[in-house]
Amino acid sequence: MKAKKFMILGFDGAMPEHFNRFLHEGHMPNIARLIKKGTYSRALPAPPVDSPTNWVTIVTGAWPGTHGITSFTIHLPGDPLDVGRSTVGLDSTKLCKAEFLWDAAEKAGKKCLVMNYLCSWPPTFKNGMLVGGPSPSGCAPEWNKGVPVNFITESPSSKETQDIFEFQISLKKAEGWENLPKSFSQPLESKIPSNFTSSKLASDVWQSEWEQLHYGKTEEEKSDPIWDPTYHLLIIDSKNEGYDKVYVCREKNIATSIANLRVKEWSDWTYDKVVSDSQRFKVGFKFRLNELSPKGDKIEIFRTIPYKTDGWTYPPNLAQEIVENVGIYAGGFETYMGYRHPIRVEKPKLLDIYFECTSHQLNYFVNVARYLKKKYSWDGLFSLLHLQDEIGHQIGFDGINPSAPGYDPKIEKAHWGIIRKMYEHMDEQVGKMVKECWSEDMLTIVISDHAAVPIRKSISVNGVLQLARLLTIKTDKETGYSKIDWSRTKAYIRPGFPMEYIWVNLKGRDPQGIVDPGQDYDDVIDQTLSLLYGLKDPETGRCPIALALRKEDAKMLGHWGERASDMLYFYKPGYTGDPGPVPLPEKMRYTDEEKKMMISSRPGRGNHSGFLPTAKLGGCSNEAIFVISGPGVKKGYLRTEPIWLVDVAPTLAYLLDFPAPAQSEGHVLYDIMC
Ligand SMILES: [Zn+2]
Repeated sequence: MKAKKFMILGFDGAMPEHFNRFLHEGHMPNIARLIKKGTYSRALPAPPVDSPTNWVTIVTGAWPGTHGITSFTIHLPGDPLDVGRSTVGLDSTKLCKAEFLWDAAEKAGKKCLVMNYLCSWPPTFKNGMLVGGPSPSGCAPEWNKGVPVNFITESPSSKETQDIFEFQISLKKAEGWENLPKSFSQPLESKIPSNFTSSKLASDVWQSEWEQLHYGKTEEEKSDPIWDPTYHLLIIDSKNEGYDKVYVCREKNIATSIANLRVKEWSDWTYDKVVSDSQRFKVGFKFRLNELSPKGDKIEIFRTIPYKTDGWTYPPNLAQEIVENVGIYAGGFETYMGYRHPIRVEKPKLLDIYFECTSHQLNYFVNVARYLKKKYSWDGLFSLLHLQDEIGHQIGFDGINPSAPGYDPKIEKAHWGIIRKMYEHMDEQVGKMVKECWSEDMLTIVISDHAAVPIRKSISVNGVLQLARLLTIKTDKETGYSKIDWSRTKAYIRPGFPMEYIWVNLKGRDPQGIVDPGQDYDDVIDQTLSLLYGLKDPETGRCPIALALRKEDAKMLGHWGERASDMLYFYKPGYTGDPGPVPLPEKMRYTDEEKKMMISSRPGRGNHSGFLPTAKLGGCSNEAIFVISGPGVKKGYLRTEPIWLVDVAPTLAYLLDFPAPAQSEGHVLYDIMC
């Protein structure tokens, strides 16, 4: 039998080391069955090792130099060097220069469903279906209208320690209510106030320090709030055991209740119309009662992002059908609403919510895939969940490494628990997808885009360039903020992504170029590369750079074309890039000793971009996973050497018997075929 259909189940950040461990320990029975019936290999991502670059590499079979999606933001020729175009918004496919596998499949008469996949908007096909995406930590800003909020009776934590947006409310004796339910204690009431503006909250918190330094502080949005509902809360004691139940109502009437919740319960989706002068749409949101003290003096009720009920599908009218039959698309739910990342062992309450959100999301995508399969019968599925990546970034992996600095066995146990949970979720989604959508003529692929290694120290390479007078900062007299002085800057890294790209400010090519092509250009490159290799960690005396090379020499890493920087470098595992440039805010200042080398300590997290695809540290690696089973694929074959992610699209096209995407450069993996 020939393979006719396929199902790509993507998991951002899944790592072979952890994957293998949980497979071996029996925590992933569904994936174990797939591997038994198919092939499993490690996979090498393409640099820069980040999500947009590699999810696009997977579905184009092309290197970043060819497909041009070289990170979360990319530099286009002619743009000033500090301008980056986003590849995770609604314009991303326009920036991609290579054909997608879903388009190659459609040409061969196959109908594809692309679900929550990075860089998938706007749609490039006619007959296919697109649901959600396109960014890793949530939906496009156009699809959500506000931020998730915790309404609490305590005073909000400071912004630095807040894990979610908080808004203080108070409780008092309920008055003027109709249809009151029975309560053994005096019913209490509160109100989710109508005068907070979600847009203000969002812009307020979400400008990072380096963005402020670099681009100046964004003005708070002055526009009127677009969605300001007032909801009334009624709190009762339903069992004579203290306050235990909260009603969320549109009016002071239980008949208008949209949710009644006990502690740890979620409401169903509630929908509301938004009508303002300029906008008219519907949003959906949920509540969860996080805490209610029996004495009735403490409450914490969480409300999700209000998500738009349309706009996130192609064809456009598919959204309504999905909302009615499956539910609303809550982009980024598995990353805890896409705004805050409370994956911390010391906050078990928030962790519970995080796992619940993850579970909600995986079930949602299973249900969408099943519904659309039944109704419209897709031949190819591209789906993506962000489970492991969040863990890698937020808790890092030093907590599980007995030889790491600051190791604590209690933390190790807790961290393993969190990591294992994510792989169990992964296995659950694979199991459910196979159960609901699999057919004998289908290839099933489980794949990731990279993993992560711990970071312990960071380096400001822009700071290094500044000390060497290759980059100059000036203070804007009007705003008081630092700016790049382009008339005195020869080499530069645009903060953000990718931080391992160094550009020469080249005359004739860059709008503010000052370096002449030829000898001057070569001199800047030589000087910069020498600086990088001359860096020494003051603590170890060793160079923190694994590899630094000029563009012409980086072709072996897929680095070419107009969007590829003049130089490319990689940190040794354990180091990461600092946003820089100096001067940094007070709390990020270096000690005098560190300043010499622009290296500072920053333990407790993990990262993947900035490292070579083969980076390894403390039992972790930066490599991805690739599992495939189905017609034409060897059974029980464990590949000893990794494939490249660029090999996936041509191999799938070969197995499915249609021409590979037009710009495909990877190899067909003949060795995995039977
Ligand atoms: Zn990723």
